[in-house]
Parts: sequence; structure tokens; C-alpha cells
Amino acid sequence: MADMKQYVQDTLDLIGKRDPEQKQFKTTVSKVLETVVPVLEKHPEYKEQKILERMVEPERVVSFRVPWQDDKGVTHINRGFRVQMNSAVGPYKGGLRFHPSVNLDILKFLAFEQVYKNALTGLPIGGAKGGSDFDPHGKSDNEVMHFCQSFMTELYRHIGPHVDVPAGDIGVGGREIGYLFGQYKRICNAYDAAVLTGKRVDYWGSLARPEATGYGLMYFVKNMLDDKNISLKDKTLVVSGAGNVATYAIEKAQEYGAKVVTCSDSDGYIYDPNGIDLDAVKEIKQVRRGRIKEYVAAHPQAEYHEGCTGVWTVKCDVALPCATQGEIDIESAKALVANGVIAVGEGANMPSSLEAIEYFQQNKVLFAPAKAANAGGVAVSALEMSQNSERLQWTFAEVDNKLKDIMANIYRCAKANAEKYADPDDLVAGANITAFVKVADIMLAHGLV
Ligand code: NDP
Repeated sequence: MADMKQYVQDTLDLIGKRDPEQKQFKTTVSKVLETVVPVLEKHPEYKEQKILERMVEPERVVSFRVPWQDDKGVTHINRGFRVQMNSAVGPYKGGLRFHPSVNLDILKFLAFEQVYKNALTGLPIGGAKGGSDFDPHGKSDNEVMHFCQSFMTELYRHIGPHVDVPAGDIGVGGREIGYLFGQYKRICNAYDAAVLTGKRVDYWGSLARPEATGYGLMYFVKNMLDDKNISLKDKTLVVSGAGNVATYAIEKAQEYGAKVVTCSDSDGYIYDPNGIDLDAVKEIKQVRRGRIKEYVAAHPQAEYHEGCTGVWTVKCDVALPCATQGEIDIESAKALVANGVIAVGEGANMPSSLEAIEYFQQNKVLFAPAKAANAGGVAVSALEMSQNSERLQWTFAEVDNKLKDIMANIYRCAKANAEKYADPDDLVAGANITAFVKVADIMLAHGLV
């Protein structure tokens, strides 16, 4: 074991030496690689073939200038990136993020995670991430369109349905995907629908994509609980967020007969002892674009609380963080455990701190890590690519049934590898190992490329 621990440490030292400023990337890699040590022990060929050194080095990183003019005619220069991390399993795939915080460190750690998440889906997609330090907040439609067109004017030469298939992420929604696709189509003079996913349904997007991450989360959590003979029926659930992931996780949880008593936005959370009225939440968030506190006006039994962390002090059986990264710290984890939480399912990306995850595991809380539990979104994006390739659109039920199978399979594989190599309930290790072995074995099959 010591030998392979040293191999992991040497790989981390290499990252530190080459890119000392990329601290988030190094931390992410270290947390993943420490869980795969038992596999490295059993498979010395991975070390012989320098698989770790290869996995932490992106296959390609593109950085480019994005010039654009605002409505007043003022020129702005942003930075665009695409990190093409690993294409062993299939064409690179991963979102584009437009946010002022975007830099290479963040995109590399997201791309590294994406390789693993995509491998878990069992679908033929590699991993990438990209974006720009452009801030769409407060920009006019016209400015966003001009920015997207300039961004795509460089990006188009690095992507393609068989090369790299970007999607949305923070700051890149349906509007931006539309502008990006329009510019790609114009430059390439080809209707390559499968070059981007997250498209609107009327131009070859997939049905059930909006529901996919939230539904997928609940399919995963249900598999995890079924395995312990625990039913979701009549369980009390605490959910954070009131956006895409939270809304559809609540919808599916209610279908399963669970009682969801909270949801939140970045100002605060609502607690409804009768169970959340999801139609009212959808009306506030999707139609009126309002604040979650508006809910209590028509629901006098409900309470509104300013601030977000308080949501984790509400007594529940299952907690689903579906808002944002870093929302469950160790104090929140302690509150949940003290109140008897049975399971935590991560809908958001990295919502729980490392300390919080350790605390859940030490206290035998069933823990569904984001990489596995929220992979439903990217899985349906890959199904969107399949539909585009065959120039057909599947029904909602066809996509949803495939999603259900995919999430069940992710759970089964993660659980089997947890049992084989780690603590039988450690799905963090189980998911990492499943993805690692899949990617590493294909890399070996492809030779030294
Ligand atoms: P949305 O923007 O649709 O919704 C996010 C929700 O979280 C909003 O209600 C927002 O409130 C709320 N929120 C933001 N910050 C906080 C905070 N600090 N505390 C409490 N609530 C907060 O995003 P999504 O639902 O699409 O994504 C949520 C998370 O899931 C993100 O981490 C994302 O990366 C991840 N994810 C999403 C996927 C998808 O398919 N959509 C796929 C995989 C992961 P407000 O209205 O005030 O902004």
C-alpha cells in the first residue's frame, strides 16, 4: 500500500511543481486519487504505464481572446478556455461556464471531475470543461449574443460532434446555447445538431433534459435506500435550492410519496410542515422569477427564514443539497446527524465540505456523492447526442426510462466497487474507483497516446 500511496503523492507533487497556482485542481485530484490506491495495488500495470501522470495532464488546453463590443460601442476583451481533459471513453463532453471567477485552475478541476462523472454514466463521452471570465449579469440580450458569437468564432475549430460537445453550465443557459449553436451553424455551414447539448426541444434538444438531474438524483437515492429496505414513502425530506435540480428532485420525491418540507433560494428558505406546494414554487421561480419568500403569502402555515444554512437544522430523514457548492459545512452536517438523518444525496456539485462528508460517513449516514448522484443531467445530454445522430427525437418516457436504468447502473457499479475495495457503504470511493478503472483500462487499450 505504501508504494502506491507514494505513487499518488509523487503525482500530486508533479502537479504542485508544474502548476503551483492550481490549488483547487490539486486538491480535487488528491481527494480522488487517494480513494483509488487499493486498485493501484491490485493493478501494477497502471503505474508501469504512468496512468496517473497521464490522467492529470489534459490532452489539450485551448486559451483564446474573446473581443466584443457592448451596446455603447465600448470594446471588451475576455478570455475563453476549453480544457479537453480526456477522450478515452468518447468525444470530450462538458459544460461552458461564463462567470468572472473562471480561470484555468477551476476549469481543470471541473474537467477532471467531469471525466469521472461521464465515465460513470456508461455512455460514450470523455470529459472537458470550458468557458470565459465574461459576466452575463446585467448584459443586454444583444451584448450576450455578440459575446457568444465572438466566443464561438474561435471555439468552433476545436469542437465537433465527434470531437468535443460542450453544454451549458453557470451563466450559460438556453439563450446562450442558442446563440452559440447559431454561430457554429453559420461558420461551418452545417446543421450539426450534436455539436452542443442543452438545446431547446424545437431545434433538437432532448425531452426530459430539464428534469434529468433532479429525477436522476431521486432514482439514485431510491436505489441506495431500496438496498437497505428503506422506503421513501412518508419520509421527511429537506431540499435546498429552488432551481432546476431542486424543482425536479422535489417533483420525483413527491411522486415516491415522500414529504418535502423545505426549499430555498440565495436569500433564505421556506419550511412548510404540510409539504411543499411545488406548483406554487414553480409559479414563483419559473414564471414570475420571484423570491422564495413570496411562498408564505398564500401558505400561512409555512415559515420563511432568512439565510440558507438554517435549512440543515430542520429535522429530516433525507437531505438533498441542490443549490450550490459548499452549502453543507461541518456544523450543518452535525445538525443533520443530531436530528437523525438517514441519507444525504448531493444534487448540486460539491455541496458538502470534505469534513462534512467524513462526518456523515463516520456516523453511518448513507451518502450519495454528486459525481454519481447528479450524473443524470450529463447522461441525458449524451442521449441528446444519440438522438441528434439518428435524427430522431425520443418520447419523454423513452428518455426517462433510459435515465432510470442509467442511474440504477451507476448505483450498482459504485456499490460493487465499494464492497470490493473499500467500506461497503463508501459510495465516494466506489464511484471514483468505477470511473477510474473504466477510463484507465480504455487508456491502456489505446496505447501511449
Ligand atoms: P439554478 O440556477 O437553476 O438554481 C440554483 C438554485 O440555488 C436557485 O434557487 C438559487 O437561488 C439557489 N442558490 C444559489 N446560491 C445559493 C445559496 N448560497 N444558498 C441557497 N440557495 C442558493 O441551478 P441548478 O439547479 O441548475 O444547479 C444547482 C446545482 O446543481 C449547481 O451546483 C450545479 O452546478 C449543479 N448541477 C446542475 C445540473 C443541471 O443539469 N442543472 C447538472 C449537475 C449539477 P437564487 O434564485 O437566489 O439564485
